[in-house]
Amino acid sequence: MRYIEPHIHMVSRVTDDYQKMAVSGCVAISEPSFWAGFDRCSADGFKDYFIQLTQYEPKRAARYGIKHFCWLCINPKEAENLQLARDVVSMIPNFINHQNVLGIGEIGLNRNTKNELKVLEMQLELAAKYQTLVLVHTPHLEDKLKGTRLTIDAIKNNGKIPPHKVIIDHCEEHTVKLALDEGYWAGLTLYPQTKCTTARAIDIIEIYGFERIWVNGAADWGNSLPLAVPYLALEMRQRGHSEEEIDRLIFQNPYKFLSQSPNFKVI
Ligand SMILES: [Zn+2]
Repeated sequence: MRYIEPHIHMVSRVTDDYQKMAVSGCVAISEPSFWAGFDRCSADGFKDYFIQLTQYEPKRAARYGIKHFCWLCINPKEAENLQLARDVVSMIPNFINHQNVLGIGEIGLNRNTKNELKVLEMQLELAAKYQTLVLVHTPHLEDKLKGTRLTIDAIKNNGKIPPHKVIIDHCEEHTVKLALDEGYWAGLTLYPQTKCTTARAIDIIEIYGFERIWVNGAADWGNSLPLAVPYLALEMRQRGHSEEEIDRLIFQNPYKFLSQSPNFKVI
């Protein structure tokens, strides 16, 4: 079995996780920029983080034969401070041409505030300017549907980013159709408690099919599963899905989306 983990925060995981993922068939990782578990005090904190994502993490992954790619942004949880956001966004062009950078993400909304929306618009403009892929974080709170709608409106208002270059991640039963119907890719995030369980994710795939959907564990510094994708593959097998279907979902689909970036080279 081979798979791509398209959304994981390896900077907050131990090296043992790389080893476990490698022996489970992981060939590539894509790591969006996210919250570090605390609010950073200055843009310099993000500068160090971007250096870690573009220079150091790929070397750690390479020791286990895993290709490491990343995304740059200021995440929605730290987007309330507009001056900080402007400082971080203005620094991104210094990193955007690095060979493992796939695009802008994970951008979006957390509490659906006005400032978060402004920062989202700012970063969509950056993605449009550099013609990169976009990885969207949708809120985990009760406002997921509203946040997903607001985000899609912001992308449409920008008008320069084609839907097939955008993945709307952390979709659930009530938002997946919204993303797919508008021509976007949809991500299902497998979490032990919140977001989507493996059983729910497979139910969604059995209803909506395999087209333009990827699955990820989005493991970070909190309670999460770095092996969420291979666990899902096991459950699919137990439910009678073929190896071809599993390969399509956990390898071919993320490969197809991410390969729209010229930097994504796995095979
Ligand atoms: Zn994430």
